Amino acid sequence: MWSHLQGQNQNQHQEQNVDHENMNHDTQLLSTINSLGILPTRFNLAKRNIIADNGCPICVQCPETEVHVPWDCPAAQDVWAGSRTKLQKCPLGQQDMVQLLAYLMDRLEPEEVELFLVQAWIIWNQRNSVLHGGKLKDPGWLNKRAEVWMEEIAQAQQHLSITCTERHEGNVWRPPPPPFFKLNFDAAIIKERSMSRFGAVIRNEHGEVMAALSAMGPSVSCSEDAETMACRKAVEFAVDAGFSELMIEGKSVNVMKAISSSILDLSVVGNVVADIQWIIRGLRRVSFNWVKRDCNRVAHVLAIYARNLNEDMYWMEDAPPVALEAMYGFYICGAYLLLC
Ligand SMILES: [Zn+2]
Repeated sequence: MWSHLQGQNQNQHQEQNVDHENMNHDTQLLSTINSLGILPTRFNLAKRNIIADNGCPICVQCPETEVHVPWDCPAAQDVWAGSRTKLQKCPLGQQDMVQLLAYLMDRLEPEEVELFLVQAWIIWNQRNSVLHGGKLKDPGWLNKRAEVWMEEIAQAQQHLSITCTERHEGNVWRPPPPPFFKLNFDAAIIKERSMSRFGAVIRNEHGEVMAALSAMGPSVSCSEDAETMACRKAVEFAVDAGFSELMIEGKSVNVMKAISSSILDLSVVGNVVADIQWIIRGLRRVSFNWVKRDCNRVAHVLAIYARNLNEDMYWMEDAPPVALEAMYGFYICGAYLLLC
């Protein structure tokens, strides 16, 4: 599973520090997925009748649950025993990862919780490696590796300057200053079918459309989740299309803040936020703005346009008539009648 995720991500980026950023991304994902109880541990696989034996293959003492893997297993405890933080004093036997994380977050500094997540990732990774013929590494080496990675993650994060500005520019969309391109994204929820739809448009400093998309999304429980997923779709598209300097605009202030925050997002869409943060590390420059609904009208129209689509649609240096109409006024048989 992790190698699959890493493979997906590595296709898109050639930045230096990729391994560390990738690891940072995966530790965040590990935390979220672990908390949700869907990590493919033997306990979970046996519960779904995929395998018969739910036992830990390393210590052969207990079921391999989410909390056993990074915490209760003696192989994990050997690592924690050599850790520089107060982690070695935290008790065993936590009910699940949610309880363990709550316990740790209550007692440790944020930096120590980060170290825990990095260590947990290393332990999970090592376990997978052992199961595929690798050797169990010395706990001291694993602890040193975690410390080095923590430092390199901090350095990699300093390279990236992300700002989130709350702009109140009235109801008028404004073109970006060069060399930026502006990416507006939006989501729409189709209530009768419980589905989400995404729209995005990229424009240059003259306001000309460089690219646009209308795409289908999954069923979601609220509009903010849909907006977060729309943002991921939009930034994936922008990076794939080769844009490297982006001003990203969305209409939900909470979503824009979550994406530009350096604090681990443990919400249901925390993994989507982590994906976005990882993808934008492939950009040279990026900024986030929260804008009023009217400034985001074209992206909104593109999301609505996806309502009746059976497949995702992409346009380069073009957009469907409804989007051009939202931008310019009326669209009449291939000609635009400008209203302003
Ligand atoms: Zn074990």
